[in-house]
Amino acid sequence: MDAKLITCAFCQGTGKDPFGIPSPLSSCQVCGGKGTVKVRELAIACAFCGGSGVHDELRLTCTACSGKGMVTIKEPVEKCPRCQGTGVDISINYLPCSLCGGKGVITTRKREKQPV
Ligand SMILES: [Zn+2]
Ligand SMILES: [Zn+2]
Ligand SMILES: [Zn+2]
Repeated sequence: MDAKLITCAFCQGTGKDPFGIPSPLSSCQVCGGKGTVKVRELAIACAFCGGSGVHDELRLTCTACSGKGMVTIKEPVEKCPRCQGTGVDISINYLPCSLCGGKGVITTRKREKQPV
């Protein structure tokens, strides 16, 4: 399995909690203070938080990507028909879409063979 190291989106690589929760000296809860997080290939920018890793409404880590700013996908994917790719639930706008989990895309289930 391929994994790569990316800059922690939640703290933007500083290793400190961006909201100073519970204290300004707190280590970032996403990367544990390292400033980087590991994601598995293939990863795309999280649709729900726009790659920021931050849940805008709650000022917490994004529930879709756990604050990493990236989500792992399995190809082939297509735009989520429920949220139209926004990753946001259509009825409760501060929750990730229940179909794609906030990724904005879903794995295509079609079985047809595609020429490479
Ligand atoms: Zn961090
Ligand atoms: Zn996110
Ligand atoms: Zn969706």
